[in-house]
Amino acid sequence: HAKRNPEHKYVFYDGGMRERSGFTLGLESDLRRATGGGEFELHFQPKIDLVGNRTIGAEALIRWRHPIRGMVSPAEFIPLAEETGLIWEIGAWTLIESCRRLADWIGRDLPIPSVSVNLSPRQFQDARLVGFVRSVVESAGIPPGRLELELTEGAMIGDIEKAVTILNGLKDIGVRLSIDDFGTGYSSLAYLKRFPIDTLKIDRSFVRDIVKSSTDPAIVGTIVNLAESLGFDTIAEGVETQEQADMLRQQRCTRIQGFLISRPLPVDQFETFLCNSVVPA
Ligand code: C2E
Ligand code: MG
Ligand code: MG
Ligand code: MG
Repeated sequence: HAKRNPEHKYVFYDGGMRERSGFTLGLESDLRRATGGGEFELHFQPKIDLVGNRTIGAEALIRWRHPIRGMVSPAEFIPLAEETGLIWEIGAWTLIESCRRLADWIGRDLPIPSVSVNLSPRQFQDARLVGFVRSVVESAGIPPGRLELELTEGAMIGDIEKAVTILNGLKDIGVRLSIDDFGTGYSSLAYLKRFPIDTLKIDRSFVRDIVKSSTDPAIVGTIVNLAESLGFDTIAEGVETQEQADMLRQQRCTRIQGFLISRPLPVDQFETFLCNSVVPA
């Protein structure tokens, strides 16, 4: 039986049978070509701490500059990359490129404490992951603690023992780990306490209506308390207005990321942002 996913312009069937629209078939072969070279780039979005107005890091977000279609959103091609298995190569490029940039910034003394990279579920479950991350960090020559990996809850459900083993393997390298889009997935408290992670990234959906909603401030406050009890930091994503930032601060979430601070920026503009940002000694 067919399942139509309105968010993505392709259709997939249970049992491995797949049928795609012409649009997506084109996109798939284009994605194969793009993975071969040159059409991807990384943009970086600052993460700041409202206490001291300090840049605490940046998230690397992939962009695909398609020769005909223009910019294709990762929301469109990452699911396709996952489905076709191209995600391994794309993710490898993203990690290598992110670490290379970080090494360059460290070498030039730019005030950037860390860079975070998204890992999708299939990357997380690939047996090569831990060894690959270790080798990329080593070749880039960056302190491992300055690299953060963002994982969604969805990557870790299923085989919890296996997830904990992978997370421990990543922690052994010394990288930082965060749960992205936190609050939208299925992680139970029993699992959460076993995950050796550093940060919960509060999903944009709780930030969006936080000013008007009668429930969302309490949800955010509860996540902050939970994180504190478990020894995790929190950061809120998708912060667009000063009012949202104020509400988050009231709930003791002082780290934020979003258009209020900056959109994701191409490398040169991101470097300008870093050089202009106020960093107390
Ligand atoms: P995400 O990791 O949750 O990234 C946050 C998304 O929210 C980004 O969308 C970012 O541009 C957007 N955003 C940031 N601030 C705001 C804001 O204030 N308001 C609104 N409305 N949006 C904001 P983007 O770049 O389109 O990426 C979408 C998703 O694609 C990401 O969600 C992540 O799951 C995935 N993705 C992006 N780059 C990579 C990558 O290199 N590898 C993998 N595996 N996934 C990636
Ligand atoms: Mg993310
Ligand atoms: Mg997110
Ligand atoms: Mg998100």
